[in-house]
Amino acid sequence: MSAHGPRPFQGRAWLGYLAVGLVAITAYYLIPRAGAGVAARVVVYCLTSTSAAVVVLFAAVRNRAGARVAWLLLGLSQVVYSLADCTFYVHHYLLDSTAFPSLADVFYLGHYPLVVVALVLLIRRRSPGRDLPSLLDASVLAVVAAMLSWLYLIGPRARMDQPLPVAVASVAYPVMDLAMLVVALRLVLGTGRRSGSFALLSANLLAILTADTLYVLQQLNGSYQAGNFLDAIWLGGNLALGAAALHPTMARLAEPSPTRENVLGWGRIAALCGAALIAPAMLVLQHATGQFRDIPAIAAACAMLFVLVIARLAAMVGDQRRLAITDALTGLHTRRFFVAQLPIEVERARRGGGSVAVFIADVDRFKSINDNHGHPAGDRVLVEVADRLRRAARAGDVVARYGGEEFALLAPGVGPADLASLARRLRESVAGGPIAASDTTALGVTVSVGAACYPEHGGDPAAVIAAADRSLYAAKLSGRDRAVVGVAVDAEQPVVEHLCRIADQVDLRLSSRHDSRAVGRWARLLAAELGHDERGIRVAGLAARLRDVGKVVIPDAVLLKPSALDADEWRLIRQHPDHGFRLADTVPGLFPVAQTIRQHHERYDGSGYPQGLTGTAIRWEARVVAVCDVGAALLADRPHRPAFSPDEALTVLRDGRGTLFDPAVVDLFLDLHAEGRIDTPDLGRVG
Ligand code: GH3
Ligand code: MG
Ligand code: MG
Repeated sequence: MSAHGPRPFQGRAWLGYLAVGLVAITAYYLIPRAGAGVAARVVVYCLTSTSAAVVVLFAAVRNRAGARVAWLLLGLSQVVYSLADCTFYVHHYLLDSTAFPSLADVFYLGHYPLVVVALVLLIRRRSPGRDLPSLLDASVLAVVAAMLSWLYLIGPRARMDQPLPVAVASVAYPVMDLAMLVVALRLVLGTGRRSGSFALLSANLLAILTADTLYVLQQLNGSYQAGNFLDAIWLGGNLALGAAALHPTMARLAEPSPTRENVLGWGRIAALCGAALIAPAMLVLQHATGQFRDIPAIAAACAMLFVLVIARLAAMVGDQRRLAITDALTGLHTRRFFVAQLPIEVERARRGGGSVAVFIADVDRFKSINDNHGHPAGDRVLVEVADRLRRAARAGDVVARYGGEEFALLAPGVGPADLASLARRLRESVAGGPIAASDTTALGVTVSVGAACYPEHGGDPAAVIAAADRSLYAAKLSGRDRAVVGVAVDAEQPVVEHLCRIADQVDLRLSSRHDSRAVGRWARLLAAELGHDERGIRVAGLAARLRDVGKVVIPDAVLLKPSALDADEWRLIRQHPDHGFRLADTVPGLFPVAQTIRQHHERYDGSGYPQGLTGTAIRWEARVVAVCDVGAALLADRPHRPAFSPDEALTVLRDGRGTLFDPAVVDLFLDLHAEGRIDTPDLGRVG
């Protein structure tokens, strides 16, 4: 016995049970129906039926894993069923009493409610939450079955001229079967694993329902005889129930379904369609034969089917919509929903003179969580961050996953006065306690929050989002784990753009290509690959773009001189880093960029200009720009005084590794070039 107590039966006990049972059924039909044979038949039948009850109860008691009550009820139902069998056959064969209804019928009818309750328990465990589609599908089939049962079983039986007990008992059978059919359909059509035990239980239900239906039909036309082929179906059904309990997958029958989605496959569509068409087919049949009966019942069935189909349609549309606006990982709204909702709220605020606030929260240094603990841990953190933000939001706010590790909150009615406190609440809700990244690690996670509102920080949805975005950027720049509110448009931006125009002019004078744009992109790429943050990436990229703006003051006679330069001319050329520095430094906040421009001709070994700095005394951004500057020769065919050919440029970099240039930067550049990630666009000739 294992530490976890008795486990379900392993191996092939169920097959052995089925085999012995089939031998018993065969023997039942071979034993002569005379003399001692009659008693022997009764014994074989009752033993077979009782064996299923014993086996199911035994397995249910041993099984501690799942749905014990459901299995106990199934066992109990089979006990009652076998009691009914024993009573019936002893009365019928041994006492020659064919009274109907009898004690046996009380037992037979009593077993159905037990089965129904057991199946309902199984369904609830297999499909936790709601599984509306399966319920609707089962209802469609049940309506058709109920209609057929009414037309051919219940109706004719009820109309017969018979004493009341007979009428009640004979109508009770099809009604009970119908109840069992409804839950059986719901079980079979619902979500959940289709294991061996599940198949055997389904076989049991199918056998009992089939034999019961044929029995009522035979009783109606007077052809029923005890001991006919129906006994084989009933006994086979009992055996299937016993085998389901013995099957190794028995305990897993009640496992919750791994998915909530119930796929509407072609098979199911065809089955539903075929079943639903039976109702109008009945009308056509009656029209053809001229025998009209139960028209209101058929019409009611058609109406119910129509309502069920519409309900199924509505449920499906609702599901699709829910999926489209729900983020699969976090369960928050999607960015799509957020972006669609914002203009609606802004318009509402515009008409009512109110406000709308937008918050964007970005997880700080999230990449390192992925890198250090793995992607699944990162996912767990995202789910928890989402939950905390959702809890911090108010009812009526829209909380969305805006990007990978970025979340956005739309708060109607929130104006500038409440912006900061709500932003702080969001930030603190995440930072409030460690987050479990795995079962063994908990991490302190923080977010930076940027906030803005309509109409104070932006006059339309895009402007509000841009302001929130700028605020987030400012929060990151000022050290992360903080909230920044309503950062206005960068007043210096036009000046920076003006400097870029000057860089373009220099490009035009020097060559046929706008190479400063490409070099700017490379410097950003290298800075990112070296692991620098957005601020560093921006400084390196802008400095690379503006590295030669100082050349704007160097006369054409020198700058474009086709022959060798003399010493004075060289002196002029070598001033361009300082000129560039002075130009860029006129823009507030651009000092790091200006410094980088000044140092981009410094060399690692101190052989550069203007200051002759060495090694790490040179800003890292300048060491990156220096390599990219030489790499600019890869852009090829500068008609005017090419410094190097593309191949020469790579050679210069390789040879200058560790002497002229920072070796790590050279290695990275060459690697990226080999990988084809140094883009060398053909911008065409200009000017
Ligand atoms: P910062 O503080 O500047 O925001 O740094 P960061 O590392 O958070 O920023 P960055 O934008 O560089 O990194 C975001 C990372 O988020 C990169 C990406 O691999 C990861 N990511 C995006 N979506 C998912 C996701 O669904 N699951 C996981 N585990 N990681 C994701
Ligand atoms: Mg981040
Ligand atoms: Mg991010």
